Amino acid sequence: MARIAHRIEPSRDQLRTVEGGQTLKYPVNLVAEEIRKEAQKRGIGGNTFIVRSGYRSVAQQEILWRRALEKYGSAAQARKYVAPPGNSAHHTGGAIDFDLGLSTCCSKELIPEYRKTKAYKFLQEVAPKYKLSPYDAEPWHWECDAACEQNILDLLENTGDGSAFSKISKTAKYAGLTLGFVVLGLGSFLLVKGFD
Ligand SMILES: [Zn+2]
Repeated sequence: MARIAHRIEPSRDQLRTVEGGQTLKYPVNLVAEEIRKEAQKRGIGGNTFIVRSGYRSVAQQEILWRRALEKYGSAAQARKYVAPPGNSAHHTGGAIDFDLGLSTCCSKELIPEYRKTKAYKFLQEVAPKYKLSPYDAEPWHWECDAACEQNILDLLENTGDGSAFSKISKTAKYAGLTLGFVVLGLGSFLLVKGFD
């Protein structure tokens, strides 16, 4: 698990909207949705694991950066709160800022509080399965690099791990099986008719 090395913007057709209105690059959106579902089953619900910030263009980051410069007065200070344009993993669509269930998301002042949340502990537990990388300075910020994306695609293929990823492919298989029976049923009906 490693943080995203190449900060390249995805193409428009790679972006998917997730609950809450943010966008993430496919298939990273699937991991975010899956984590929210899995957490809800464990009673971690409400707004927890809504994506508070996903893909951000360099242009959007430019606006955030200028606001931070005004607010904090210098680049050195602003850098503590906002990544300069071109430097954020959010440009790739593979970085996720999760709502960890506190009233405010993504506030540096609340870092010790975020680390105590059930949501944060849950993320630490499931991150290896999804090959998500943490960012130690921001407990809400998680990244899905190329190996993590490949892992999601592998999970989608694999039916044996019990995750909703496998349910997606299982549903597809059952649909195929049902269609098979219908065809078979229709076939035998025609066959019986043919014998008549
Ligand atoms: Zn972030």
